[in-house]
Parts: sequence; C-alpha cells; structure tokens
Amino acid sequence: MSVEHVIAIVGFGGMGSQHGKILSGISRIKVAGIYDILETRQQFAIDKGFYVYKSYEEILQDSTVNTVLIATPNDSHRDIAIAALKAGKHVICEKPVTLNSRQLEEIIETAETYNKVFVVHQNRRWDEDYLVMKKLYDEGILGDVFHLETRVQGSRGIPGDWRHQKEFGGGMMLDWGVHLIDRLLIMIKEKITSLQCKMSYVLGNDVDDGFRLTINFESGKTAFVEVGTCNYITLPKWYMCGTTGTAIIEDWEMNGQVITLKTFNDKDATPIEAGAGLTKTMAPRELDTVNTNPIPRFDTDVREFYHNFIDVTEGKGEILVKNEEVLRVMKVIEAAFLSDELNQVVLFD
Ligand code: NAD
Repeated sequence: MSVEHVIAIVGFGGMGSQHGKILSGISRIKVAGIYDILETRQQFAIDKGFYVYKSYEEILQDSTVNTVLIATPNDSHRDIAIAALKAGKHVICEKPVTLNSRQLEEIIETAETYNKVFVVHQNRRWDEDYLVMKKLYDEGILGDVFHLETRVQGSRGIPGDWRHQKEFGGGMMLDWGVHLIDRLLIMIKEKITSLQCKMSYVLGNDVDDGFRLTINFESGKTAFVEVGTCNYITLPKWYMCGTTGTAIIEDWEMNGQVITLKTFNDKDATPIEAGAGLTKTMAPRELDTVNTNPIPRFDTDVREFYHNFIDVTEGKGEILVKNEEVLRVMKVIEAAFLSDELNQVVLFD
C-alpha cells in the first residue's frame, strides 16, 4: 500500500518513542522524523533510525509533513499545537491535552480556523479492561448499574521527572485521572449533577500524588474514580454494581469475575454467626441462585486510533476521540480541583 500520511514527532521521550515504534509498523504512515530538545533523546532517535530535525521550526517548514504528533510535557502542548495548526498541519496530541479547558478551547478555535484535524491520544479507551466493563454496562448484563468504581494504584510515588512539578502540568489527576475520567464519561452518557474530590498530597509533593473523586449522575448513578501512588496493597481496578449482578476486575492481568442473579426466588437466608454478631442480611447467597463467570476477554487494537485519524483527515468517517468529549473531561478536572480547594461538593453542567 502506498504511504499516505507523513508525521513528525515532537518530544521523543517515553511516549514519543512508543508512538515512533507503533507508527513505524503502520504502512499508511511514514514517520518523517522527530524533534527533541535533549541531545540524549536526539541520539536515541538516530540510533533507532529516525531523522532528527534541528528545530521545531524545521518541521513546520517541511511541506512533506502533514501531521505533527506532540509528546512533550503537558505545559507545552498548547503552543506546539497552535503553531502546527497555523502552519497547516494536522495534530495528534498527547493527553492531558492542555493544563485547562481554556487552552483547549484556543486550540479547537485554531483548528477550526485553519480547517485541520486536531485529536487527543486517549489511547486507554482501547484498554481491554475498560472495553469489557463498557460491554457489560452497554448490554445491561448486571441489570441497572447504580455504582461503579475505576482506579489505578501503585506504590512508587510520582515518577521522578517533570510529573513532580506544577509548572509542567505534573500530578496524578492530569496524568492518570484524565484517562479514567475520559473513559467513564464515554461509558456513562449522562448529565453530571455534582462531584466531590479529595486530592492526595501524602508524599509531600507540590502536585497531587493521587485523588478520590465521586461523580453523581442525573439518574442517581454514582462513580468513584481513584488514583493512588502510595498503595502497597491495591484495590480492584474495576468494581461495577447493578441491580442483578456485580463485576470486578482485580488487576492488569484481567483477573476478576462477573456474578449475575439467576432467580430472585432465593429463600430468606438463615442467620449466620459473623464476627461478634448474627446476620442474615449479609449471609452469603445459595450458590445455585447465581451465575459465576470469569471476565470475558476482548480483542482490542490501539492502532485503530491512528487509522481513524488518517481516515478523518481524508474526509472519511467520524473522529473517535471528539474534542468536545475531551473538553468536558478538562472541565470535570477543573471542578475536581475546585471541590478539593473548597472542601465541598461542586455542582456541574
Ligand atoms: P518524557 O519526559 O519521557 O518525554 C518528553 C520528551 O519531550 C523529553 O525527551 C523532552 O526532552 C522532550 N521535550 C520537552 N520539551 C520539548 C519541546 N519544547 N520540544 C521538543 N521536545 C521537548 O515524558 P513522557 O512520559 O513521554 O510524556 C510525554 C507526554 O506523553 C505527556 O503529555 C504525557 O502525559 C504523555 N503520555 C501519555 C501516555 C499515554 O498512554 N497516552 C503515556 C505516557 C505519557
């Protein structure tokens, strides 16, 4: 197949080089080269066989390049994106798209003015665990879902790079929170009525090392989003409760289960001795009243993101990651910081 699309990568650190690896395997795309301010990363790119641009300006002036892919620290996305759009390039930008919603609005306006595609790399919409939970949700397998929890936890603190520093857009809300909130709002397509967030600063950084966020939806559903970097024992990545079932995914290895009710005609439980007391409310179910299944598996391929982007630049199809969705996530993040600052529930939408 002939190469249709020429991309230059700006920022060739961890994620930029990952893009380089994936894009090099897509026949519709040619990577023209990279630009990074660090000599060590330039040399790394040369060693991997990439052309290294001497400046960002050189990319903007290269008329063979039709797309700029931005994988620099978060604070620089806005300026790099706007310059690329004004130079007539399409843009793929890493998450978090910007530091706030106003910056994103500026980019969207510029993309509209110059009639170019701007898309944010919300790649974790292609994670298998998320897609499984979304399928259970969409198909009503658990009955009416009334609560769900999505989290990631680790115990290594914030990585020792720019993610530590506020000026670069560090902190875990902008790093991981943006993924979890993005996916949640794609799954639960409802108006948000209010939210409450508590940021975590237990590790003594200037930026949040995690957070706990509760989102209340119009129907009464609640979602709990949690990111932690000081969790030596981790809680399940997903926990979803419906009126006739519960699903859990414990970890990255997709351990978990789905339990659904077979029949409501379970006889009233016999009280059990539990702890220092007696309970029938919390007595376990008779096993034959429920179906117990492992987590279903799901084929997923993040390359769909890039193919969709190319299709859209050619006027085919609809963009999968929509800017208005990303903008809403940025507004939820702003409301979450406000809730933490005020120590109160914040109304939304
Ligand atoms: P990194 O520090 O590993 O790499 C950033 C690179 O950008 C560095 O090599 C740095 O020298 C370079 N750089 C900084 N300013 C620049 C500029 N003005 N012009 C050119 N190069 C510049 O960071 P990273 O982990 O690769 O993160 C980069 C971006 O990718 C961030 O926005 C981050 O949130 C995002 N990211 C996304 C995912 C994902 O799964 N979508 C995963 C990791 C990181």
